[in-house]
Amino acid sequence: MSYKLLDGKDLAARMKKAMASEVETLTAEGIVPGLAVVIVGNDPASRIYVNSKKKDCAEVGIKSFEYALPEETSEEELLGLIDALNQDSAIDGILVQLPLPEHLDEAKVIRRINSEKDVDAFHPFNVGELMIGRPVFAPCTPAGVMELLNDAGINVAGKNCVVIGRSNIVGKPMAMLMLHDNATVTICHSKTRDLKAVCKEADILIAAIGKADYITADYVKEGAVVVDVGMNRNAEGKVTGDVDFPAVSKKASAITPVPGGVGPMTRAMLLKNTIKACNMHKKQSLS
Ligand code: NAP
Repeated sequence: MSYKLLDGKDLAARMKKAMASEVETLTAEGIVPGLAVVIVGNDPASRIYVNSKKKDCAEVGIKSFEYALPEETSEEELLGLIDALNQDSAIDGILVQLPLPEHLDEAKVIRRINSEKDVDAFHPFNVGELMIGRPVFAPCTPAGVMELLNDAGINVAGKNCVVIGRSNIVGKPMAMLMLHDNATVTICHSKTRDLKAVCKEADILIAAIGKADYITADYVKEGAVVVDVGMNRNAEGKVTGDVDFPAVSKKASAITPVPGGVGPMTRAMLLKNTIKACNMHKKQSLS
């Protein structure tokens, strides 16, 4: 069967072009969206993520402010910085790069961010708003998946959607977004019995496991849509998803590549949330 490639790189580029023009209009009115990116410690992967977020911001005209704090930063110091950023009118969005060093309480740090600047949508207020079906900010990765499906004309309503993974940042919000769009959703995890049989019922299968090439062709129904959220490194150090692309693409009607699928969409959604935050703050200051 020939498949449609769900090209996140292409859609993210189109979204960034539209966002750059929106930001240009805002800037002409004297309003520059601002994103604060806070990184604590020297985790190399976190450094790569922060650099790419700053680059994305520059591409669309969002001003990014980096706060790189040493590994030994105390919780009090970090919370103090967040309080200051909450008050700073140049900052529309605050992103604390996770994971934080072990001595810092991530949940406490996230709760301290003003929910109106929580562009990652990890604050319990925004998690609650998502749960009741009126998200202000949707978490970037699952929201990016929904954009990708919508752009390809794939409607989830009435479909059997299976999400593998129940993390707070991917699996659970993914399921919730699909449910709100009228999908029948099953969430699977490491304790799910007969995962293969459950996955084979899926019209749309979302893999967010974190295990390279785990989803082989025998997990997939002929003609299913397959979205691979996974980002893993294989034995050769190459980035690979959770899905065995060469085999699964022979059965799928549509499938995301890794890299170039969900990853670029996650990054684009962060920009979208930051511009949304900026528009919200601007309206407030005018009213
Ligand atoms: P996570 O917190 O480690 O969650 C993984 C989930 O997979 C858990 O719910 C776990 O079940 C489940 N799982 C693990 N092994 C399984 C198995 N054998 N069968 C069924 N379920 C299994 O990871 P995450 O943060 O959600 O991320 C998942 C993947 O997406 C990772 O590769 C990550 O790098 C990637 N990711 C990509 C992006 C992007 O932009 N592309 C963004 C975020 C994450 P239990 O709950 O039972 O342990």
